[in-house]
Amino acid sequence: MTFASLGLIEPLLRALETLGYQTPTPVQAQAIPAVLAGRDLMAAAQTGTGKTAGFALPLLQLLTMEGPNVSANSARALILCPTRELAEQVHASVAEYAQHLPLTTYAVYGGVSINPQMMKLRKGVDILVATPGRLIDLFRQNALKLNQLQTLVLDEADRMLDLGFSEELANIYRMLPKKRQTLLFSATFSDDIRLLASQMLNDPLSIEVSPRNVAANTVKQWVVPVDKKRKAELFVHLMRKGRWKQVLVFAKTRNGVDALVDKLQGLGINADGIHGDKPQATRQRALDRFKASDVQILVATDVAARGLDIEDLPLVVNFDLPIVAEDYIHRIGRTGRAGNTGEAISLVCADEVNMLSAIEMLTRQTLTRKMEPDFEPEHRVPDTDASGQVVKKPKKPKKPKTSGGGGKRNLGKWVDSGDVAPAEPSIKPVRKVPVFNTGPRKKK
Ligand code: AMP
Repeated sequence: MTFASLGLIEPLLRALETLGYQTPTPVQAQAIPAVLAGRDLMAAAQTGTGKTAGFALPLLQLLTMEGPNVSANSARALILCPTRELAEQVHASVAEYAQHLPLTTYAVYGGVSINPQMMKLRKGVDILVATPGRLIDLFRQNALKLNQLQTLVLDEADRMLDLGFSEELANIYRMLPKKRQTLLFSATFSDDIRLLASQMLNDPLSIEVSPRNVAANTVKQWVVPVDKKRKAELFVHLMRKGRWKQVLVFAKTRNGVDALVDKLQGLGINADGIHGDKPQATRQRALDRFKASDVQILVATDVAARGLDIEDLPLVVNFDLPIVAEDYIHRIGRTGRAGNTGEAISLVCADEVNMLSAIEMLTRQTLTRKMEPDFEPEHRVPDTDASGQVVKKPKKPKKPKTSGGGGKRNLGKWVDSGDVAPAEPSIKPVRKVPVFNTGPRKKK
């Protein structure tokens, strides 16, 4: 199959040739004709398999065929992304695909001055990529009208629809014309999100190009059990032993990111960190330097879990497991992209056994455990498997308690070890499904 056989126009084919895309990926092969035909979509495909081009190419074609007629302060298509870095990256891809087209594209997100964005929107843009908060600000300040909007894309749709964004999304929905095309793309879709998504779409086509909720099979995954207090030491040991060149490391909290970066830098290792407390320019600079291989180790919270495309990244390390099992798939999906191979190593302590079990159940696999000599944990990590069972060994008799307080809180499914800093927006668990008042949908 070729891109030409999918019906794409010549300026797009020329751009793809420059980019070296020869054959459509499976998600592109299915999504492109469906979007061109005006269908609503719910598309699930593994991380790194070309989803961006799957929606961007047909969108650009539809807008080109209509002719460039965007009004002042308007957008004809809106792509919503959960993080600023992802908005920037998606926009860069859209702009590359659009290089021979008479269309305008732009990205808006928070953490940077709003004024240049307001100026840029004055003439209107054909495709606007945005994070939800900044989009709402621009709308409220009358810098953006959405009555000309024809297509809405939710990239990383399950994240966009979970509780962390529910209020903002409900607000955005109220601003949009009821008659529009809606496209949802993600590597993971929980059942709750599927149900919610199906209510938002008009006669949607569901595309599923791989088994549900699995990471790309190009990523080799394993777990190293270790005591919590020895994780940093183990990380440095493995790094030196394996002569790791470039690693993306995920930690659970902002404090955890800073502590590991400090430790690594203290050892003379070229490391940097990104998390939601850092100014946007610092975040983007750290990411750009990592993408350019000027930084060897990038430590991040889940703000970097979604969608980021880092060329030839060989290794992802989960210094801590994610609180939401789906985020594991997104995190390790930063490696093994575009058909390359990659490795994902998780350093797991006894406290994290429930998270490990949830990940194995979601991905329907029992992760191989590799003990590292001299790092065998004193607190054993109970056995787990893909059935979701945690096999606890018989408990030792407890010593009588001498004082109150302390201890561990049981948060339903997860055990909270008590040192969890305020959660990143992107690591909020989906507990309930938000309900949108989308109003009656007009038939197209
Ligand atoms: P995405 O999943 O959209 O982030 O894309 C993952 C990576 O695959 C990006 O680096 C894209 O540039 C690349 N890519 C997407 N589609 C193709 C294709 N058909 N052929 C070659 N590379 C592609």
